[in-house]
Amino acid sequence: MIDTAGWGVERWAFHLTHLLNAANPPDRHRFDVGELAKEVSRNFFPEDPISEVVEDDLDGFLGALVPSESGKRWGILVDGNASPQRQRFTIGHELGHYLLHRKKYPNGIHCDEAAVDGRDGVLVEQEANAFSATLLMPLDDFKRRISAKDVPSFDDLGACAERYDVSLTAAMLRWLRYTDRRSIMIVSTDGFANWAWSSEPAFKSGRYIRTRSGPPYELPVGSGAAAGKFSDELRAGIEHAAGVWFNEPVRELSFHATNLNAIYTLLHFRNADGGVWHAEPETEDSYDRFNRT
Ligand SMILES: [Zn+2]
Repeated sequence: MIDTAGWGVERWAFHLTHLLNAANPPDRHRFDVGELAKEVSRNFFPEDPISEVVEDDLDGFLGALVPSESGKRWGILVDGNASPQRQRFTIGHELGHYLLHRKKYPNGIHCDEAAVDGRDGVLVEQEANAFSATLLMPLDDFKRRISAKDVPSFDDLGACAERYDVSLTAAMLRWLRYTDRRSIMIVSTDGFANWAWSSEPAFKSGRYIRTRSGPPYELPVGSGAAAGKFSDELRAGIEHAAGVWFNEPVRELSFHATNLNAIYTLLHFRNADGGVWHAEPETEDSYDRFNRT
């Protein structure tokens, strides 16, 4: 038996990634996370394994890790109203809590959407989010599709979401957390931002939108998202002069996710060196590009 005391987010995620690579199932990136959670917990912690992964109506929460009355079994609950992709990521998140945090939280943990996405500033939620993201979207594989210098479209990000069987939001947040580009994603409803997330280079250059404190952020007049006319052109990206979104030019990509009743917006800024915001035309295949960088 391996001694796993002291294992953190990366160690656990990498270990499970190695197990998955060794098993090499036909659809490597679309495995059943719930089955993995049960199997791993049985093998490593037979004293208090995860015995059930069940859909439930969680009243505002996306997922939960809950102990049995005896405390000798754990269950993962997941919101049955969320999409299968959302559920998958949430189960990974709760598995992260189980491996990393259950001793500290013997009464279990309930997680809302911001917590599952690691956007709420709470350390254990950020850790569980990072665990799920690392397990479901291996970084080296992801970067082979979208490098840290690329300027992805919704199609590029959607292709990654499809590959890893996760939501578009999960794929976008994964990319925003490693990209070298200055970019922001915004999810809005009825002209106001529900939440937004900046890449670190964007954040450090003052390009962020506050949604957790202060007055609600209203989408700026003149933006594609505020105009409410959603076209293929807007989805592919339109350019704005300084003064529309921020005090500098920006490329805006927006579309209406009708199933979620939300507008998804992606803003790409020029790099700090004033370089282009468009990706260079792709002339070689991604394998060559990976070897070159
Ligand atoms: Zn959580």
